[in-house]
Order: sequence, then C-alpha cells, then structure tokens
Amino acid sequence: MIDPATGETLVYIAERVSQHFANVLYFDLGRYLIAAGGMTILLFVFGSWAKARRIQRDRTAKRSDYIREVASSFRTILVFAVVTLATLVGREFGVIKLSLQEAPLITVAWHFALIVVAHDAWFYWIHRAMHSKALFRATHLHHHKSRTPTPWTAYSFTTIEAVLEVAFVPLFLLVTSQLGIAYAGFAIFLYLWHQIIRNVMAHAGSELFPAGWVDNPLTDWIATTTHHDLHHSSGYNYGFYFTWWDRWMGTEHPRYKEEFRANAKPLISFGTRAAHASERA
Ligand SMILES: [Zn+2]
Ligand SMILES: [Zn+2]
Repeated sequence: MIDPATGETLVYIAERVSQHFANVLYFDLGRYLIAAGGMTILLFVFGSWAKARRIQRDRTAKRSDYIREVASSFRTILVFAVVTLATLVGREFGVIKLSLQEAPLITVAWHFALIVVAHDAWFYWIHRAMHSKALFRATHLHHHKSRTPTPWTAYSFTTIEAVLEVAFVPLFLLVTSQLGIAYAGFAIFLYLWHQIIRNVMAHAGSELFPAGWVDNPLTDWIATTTHHDLHHSSGYNYGFYFTWWDRWMGTEHPRYKEEFRANAKPLISFGTRAAHASERA
C-alpha cells in the first residue's frame, strides 16, 4: 500500500515507527536499569557507610517489594516510551518545537534549569492531588506500598500515575513551542538523566548527602534522601528536587532537619556510627 501524501509504503512507515518505539523503549529502560542498578551496586560496595547512614534503621524492604517495584517500573517504562514516541510525532508535525541541532552551552544551561524547576512544581502539585482522598487509592497507593524505599521504587507507579508523571514533558514542550522557543534536545536529554538519578537517590534508603547540607543556606534548598524517605514513612514532603514548595505551602516534615542530621553524621564520627550499626545488626 502506498501513502498518497508521501509516496512511502505504509509497511515502511510502520517499520520506521516501530524502530523509533524500540529506540525510546531501550533509552527509558536503560536509564532505569543503569541508575537503579548503579545505586544498588554503590550501596553494596560502600555497605558499612550505607548501613551507618540508613534512614529506616529497623526496617528493610522484602523480596516481594523488590518484585512489585521492578514489575511496575517496567510497566511505567512502557508508558513513558509511548508518550515519548507521541512527543516525537508531535515534533514531526511541527506542534512541538524541539531542536536536535547543537546549541550554545548557555542555551542548554537555562533550558535545563527551566525544565527542572517547572517539573518540580508540576510534581509537587500532582503529588498533592494524588494524595487527596478521591484520588489516592486509584493513583498513588501503589507507590506507597513501598514504605521502605529502594532504588528500584523509582518508577513503581500505577499506569495512571505513570501517565501523569510523563505527561509533563509534552505539555511543557507544547507551552514553550507556543512561546516560540525551540527547546534544546540536549537539555531534555540532561533533564531525563537528572530525573532518574535524583529519583533513585531519593529512594536509596541511606542518606547520600553530606553532613551539614540542611544547615547551609547554599544547599538547603536541594532535597535530600531523608526528605523523600520521610514522605514514604510518615507523610509530609511532597516536593521532589527542591524544598521550597513544601516550605511555601507548610507541608515540610516538622522534624526534617533533625532527622537529616541524625542520618548524615559527619565523617569524623563515621567510625563510631558504623560500630553502632554493626552492634545493631
Ligand atoms: Zn506520595
Ligand atoms: Zn517515592
């Protein structure tokens, strides 16, 4: 069969679409496996350090938690790939302006910063909405089955939550396209890696940020592992990359800083804390 508009055979078009789909699927799957797998290896290699900085000291995730998290993350990746493909089709039709040409470093930098800040706001508000009585069970309960997060919890979503999470990218690009901005493809690439790396860091289960992080105004606005871990264990803290939305809206955990300080002891007392951790084991 010939497509009258382009003269291409429909079989050829279908082949091209499925090839694009395979590429985005491998990219999304690869990001998850590299980030979650890499974090698991790091936590294993630096086992005593990770143990000393363990956030939920009396709980560990069960085998069934890992199986549920990985299985539902694979489903999320499938949803991500479909939406990414739809975004690329939108680009083909000119609805979405996304430049795959090399862009100046300054352009990449501000495009990256803008999308990260916008995604943080999007995440905070959809996250709060999903915690409402009307939506929680259908959308977000699944993610909270992981009371003790692991790096593999990163994409443990229902299909609805996966759609809500990934819908941000095409919606954001639709808005910037309307504003006449041809978004730098490399900034999106960096943003996608930043998203999964911060995601597995937030679910690592051990505090990864250095001691003093929450006591320095230059760093305190960036959310730590304790920040999101507290969300899983006791509510509060709906933000993701940054602490500012929780502070503006009064939803930060009242003991966030104390909890962080207890988890992220300075290196000088590491030996003592490691000894305590091995006594507990
Ligand atoms: Zn939540
Ligand atoms: Zn989480």
